[in-house]
Amino acid sequence: VEDLKGQRVAVVGLGASGRAAARLALARGACVLAIDKNEELVPLENDPLFAEYADLQTNLGYCNDMLLESADRIVVSPGVPLEEYGLSNLLHSGWQVMSELDFAAEVLPQNIKVLAVTGTNGKSTVTSFAGQMLHHLGIETFVGGNLGRPLSDAAIQCLQSSSGRDICQVAVVEVSSYQMEIPIKYFSPAVAVVLNLTPDHLERHKTMQNYAAMKCRLFSHMKHSKLAVLPVGNHYLNEALSSHANRCNVAWIGDHPGIKIDIETKVAILSIPTSESVTRLQLGSLKAIGTHNYGNAAVAAFSVLGLDVGIDTDSINSTVEILSILPHRMQVVFMDAHGVTWVDDSKATNVESTYTGLMGLKDHKAVILLGGLAKVLSSEGSNGFEQLVELLNHHRGVITFGSSGAMIQKTLGDGGLSIPCVRAVNLEEAVNCARSMARHGDTILLSPGCASFDEFRNFEHRGKVFQELALSL
Ligand code: ADP
Repeated sequence: VEDLKGQRVAVVGLGASGRAAARLALARGACVLAIDKNEELVPLENDPLFAEYADLQTNLGYCNDMLLESADRIVVSPGVPLEEYGLSNLLHSGWQVMSELDFAAEVLPQNIKVLAVTGTNGKSTVTSFAGQMLHHLGIETFVGGNLGRPLSDAAIQCLQSSSGRDICQVAVVEVSSYQMEIPIKYFSPAVAVVLNLTPDHLERHKTMQNYAAMKCRLFSHMKHSKLAVLPVGNHYLNEALSSHANRCNVAWIGDHPGIKIDIETKVAILSIPTSESVTRLQLGSLKAIGTHNYGNAAVAAFSVLGLDVGIDTDSINSTVEILSILPHRMQVVFMDAHGVTWVDDSKATNVESTYTGLMGLKDHKAVILLGGLAKVLSSEGSNGFEQLVELLNHHRGVITFGSSGAMIQKTLGDGGLSIPCVRAVNLEEAVNCARSMARHGDTILLSPGCASFDEFRNFEHRGKVFQELALSL
């Protein structure tokens, strides 16, 4: 399998995906040039994971253009925008520039069925739900991509599998728009889902048209069931889909054929476009909070059925009750001695996901913590928080915090917020304020609607600190 013997592969960006791609390139026999701007990284030559390979050179800090041009192909990590290192120019002048995802897909055995999940919000939840369903039904499944292990890890395992047996039957792969900036050649899902699309990451993708086009690249090389799943009525996605429509069977979230959910009866009707039969999925036993999770579970179930791996209605229905939510997504932390339930939705890094979280708490009174580093959404400079006012007004109060706290408080006030709104300097102070505002039976919800980098390393760190503060009170 040393198909790249004698070739020089440059890997740009040495996060988890880049490092996995470097190992894959080495396993494929290539000589690897590993590149990253961060001079403080440990060179791969000194990393025990790379100990068995000699054909490896790491270049940290400044990178001369000539260095990249000396490579036969360039593999780009999702964290590196195409404007850097002149990658965009190299791509357009015919250099073989590819994403880590496609580099891995090139050597993934043809018979592994891929379920790809993208969208603005809910990707990890649906990916994890589909993975849990498949595991529960005894189907060997790799779960990874943008969540957890990079796809290159699965590819390495396949190359090294000495038994000649495939390491899995299905790969459920979460895909971010950053992984799709470069057109795809090899990544060929059997089922590809674009869950939803609302403004996000526009600092990198510039327009909604671009953002939609990147998401819909998932539909460009489908195989097996060729099932494309996307929300009905999204103008940008419809436009982007039109260039792939003859390459896939389309199913709609919210229409027929596809997925229709009756929230009252908690039943989803699943109709696969290429099949006569219709599946009724009972969602009543789902443990996750929030009506959006009925949708996530239904899309996961639909996609699993769409893989065509021999799963019937009874089996898929038996998986609903075993589904568990990932940490920091509307995760119930605990109920404290005062009867207040603490919920961690730190993963809500944009206003849309906070909106969704609040929709799921309609039957409760909550104190909501909003803040961090807000994203500017529109050309007028709106941060989008005004959309939350109507939902917030049903609750106990709001605490804003972090670098955007003052701005959020002002936006909510201007938008007609009629419940108390207190501004705290940081998350610790916000937690204390929330505790004194909440009454018996209330919920305290951290669903910040902002990135975390003003105060924390990432959303996981923010969620962990919130949970520790809550438990220590
Ligand atoms: P992603 O991987 O796309 O960031 P996650 O599953 O990690 O998505 O969830 C991120 C946030 O979005 C969470 O705050 C969650 O409550 C919210 N969310 C989950 N599913 C959906 C959905 N289907 N629509 C909108 N928001 C959602």
